[in-house]
Amino acid sequence: MTQYTVRGLLDAARAALTGDEASSEAHLLIAHALGCDRAWLVAHRDDVVAPVLAGQFHCCLSRRVAGEPVAYIIGHRGFHALDFALTPDVLIPRPETELLVELALQRIPQSVKVDIVDLGTGSGAIALAIANARPQARVLATDASVPALDVARGNARRLGIDNVDFAQGDWCAALGQRRFDGIVSNPPYIAENDAHLVQGDLRFEPRSALASGADGLDAIRRIVRDAPRHLHAGGWLLLEHGFDQGMAVRGLLQQSGFVEVFTARDLEDRERVSGAVARKAAA
Ligand code: GLN
Repeated sequence: MTQYTVRGLLDAARAALTGDEASSEAHLLIAHALGCDRAWLVAHRDDVVAPVLAGQFHCCLSRRVAGEPVAYIIGHRGFHALDFALTPDVLIPRPETELLVELALQRIPQSVKVDIVDLGTGSGAIALAIANARPQARVLATDASVPALDVARGNARRLGIDNVDFAQGDWCAALGQRRFDGIVSNPPYIAENDAHLVQGDLRFEPRSALASGADGLDAIRRIVRDAPRHLHAGGWLLLEHGFDQGMAVRGLLQQSGFVEVFTARDLEDRERVSGAVARKAAA
């Protein structure tokens, strides 16, 4: 019978996986199968692995080779220094979305009680990152998907973050008559016929969290149209969008009566988040 060491599993994973992230993915899959962390793996390269654990690792590795995203196989992903449990009901948090969180935190004072809403929260990554960094703020996390809200609620519980509430509904329809100091959202923004949707990790993510109409802007149009009725005067809206949608989103914000319209670029220097301020409280 083959006897596996940690090093042997790493070699098997590196041989089977391709792409820039192969080595990091190998470590994540082995740490998951063995129930240890990455630091332990480095210090125990020559340890013999129990056959049942080696079997679990090979099962994870074949799922990855078949295309499933690592974050769904291991069931979690880090975002803004917190670890989020994930299922295929929710989008996998992306590093570029940390820009949206940073821009929101710049607008939320530490010591003031403000009301913020995250529309289409998915795993809860954005809402919980904000709530965790601003304990005085009250954050409402919404989603149209009940299974997604279950994942987000589970994350709030596990992370011990209690200044978050949850509401089910489609974009602003989840808000009733309520008004907020700030609205954030990472809505779906990929065009329905975009070839990326049938490639790589995106194939496994919820279509409703990725794609939105012929030009990808349907959800953003609805949010921008309805947001003024849910903001106090001087309240702000921040939206993530595709790298080539900045001009279109700024135009929508202006048409909807917002002022101080701007777009911020992500770490790769692509237009990624647009925002604006509600001049007066809309009726
Ligand atoms: N940024 C994601 C991607 O291109 C899309 C996320 C979204 O639609 N909100 O993979």
